[in-house]
Amino acid sequence: MPRPIQATISLDSLRHNLARARSAAAGARVWAVVKANAYGHGVERVFPALRGADGFALLDLAEAETLRALGWGGPILLLEGCFALEDLSTCERLNLWHVVHDPAQIHWLASRRKPRAHRVFLKLNSGMNRLGFTPDQYRVAWQRLHELPAVGAVSHMTHFATADAEPGIAEALERFESAVDGLPGERSLCNSAALLRYGTQARERREDPDAVLGDWVRPGIALYGGSPTGAHADAQRWELRPTMSLLTRIIGVQNVEAGAAVGYGATFRAERPMRIGVAAVGYADGYPRHAPTGTPIVVDGVRTRVVGRVSMDMVMVDLDPVRAAGRAADIGSPVLCWGRHLDSELGIDEVAEPSGTLGYELMCALARRVPVQVV
Ligand SMILES: *Cc1c(COP(=O)(O)O)cnc(C)c1O
Repeated sequence: MPRPIQATISLDSLRHNLARARSAAAGARVWAVVKANAYGHGVERVFPALRGADGFALLDLAEAETLRALGWGGPILLLEGCFALEDLSTCERLNLWHVVHDPAQIHWLASRRKPRAHRVFLKLNSGMNRLGFTPDQYRVAWQRLHELPAVGAVSHMTHFATADAEPGIAEALERFESAVDGLPGERSLCNSAALLRYGTQARERREDPDAVLGDWVRPGIALYGGSPTGAHADAQRWELRPTMSLLTRIIGVQNVEAGAAVGYGATFRAERPMRIGVAAVGYADGYPRHAPTGTPIVVDGVRTRVVGRVSMDMVMVDLDPVRAAGRAADIGSPVLCWGRHLDSELGIDEVAEPSGTLGYELMCALARRVPVQVV
């Protein structure tokens, strides 16, 4: 028997989450963000469920190639644009739209001859200071692009640094509005956090949501049922469903005395005589090594906790609550690390949070050695 670990990807949940994003988008078109191999899910695996989106946004030209090979003829947007001059021929060959965030990219475009071959999204740095033109460079960049023969439509784009937290997006939105004021072209602003928080909020307050929603929204994490804020409660409030589940089984049991140490470094000592289970999942599978004692985990439908240090291939769990619930809590008992299994649900953010990270990172870190089943 192969090692009893498995990830499942739920196409129904992906479809459901896409529908949630679409309803929050209130008519704006939806890019399904599938960078990082669809947040660790696999572009090929999610494609059948996400092909109802209006376009796909990603970074890797190889992933764009995959989507074309799968038969996607609609828009594809390169979120970081071209990395080198030669990428422009790939854009022409595959008809990829691309972000322009740096003068070098404009320079490359100036050398292309095919008339109106490039549809670009000009990116404003609205305060994050990662990619994009500053507000005072923006209009000059727009003018240069607009005049290039190889450039067709120029759209406007920005990315919020604090859509998921205070102080929110008001200041960045103001910078965007004044930078693009009077310029023609479509607009794209929202990641998941901005879409769910501000799109929905504007409608609840009966404000005009168009300013923030624009023509295209760019949800990523929401499609995969993770919380853009890191708080599992937000994923629940927005009625997102987990799309990735990580399942394994108990492969060993230790009945230990009070005071006995468990795991590397003896960081946990049994508080009483305890039944400890050994689950076949470790950091080499993508389970976070920094998950502390107390991190939630579900054994045979019963929520319990990780105890001691996570090792490469195993984690130890407290089986006492499982026994107390009348379950066998023995070799072969099913273990849910995150996601959904039968009647149990454990938010990926509930696991990420005590480890000091986000559901995003756990999804993306799912290891290649874990077999994946699409359901
Ligand atoms: C990753 C990314 C997104 C999606 O972000 P989520 O927080 O996952 O919704 C949107 N826009 C850009 C530019 C990105 O890089």
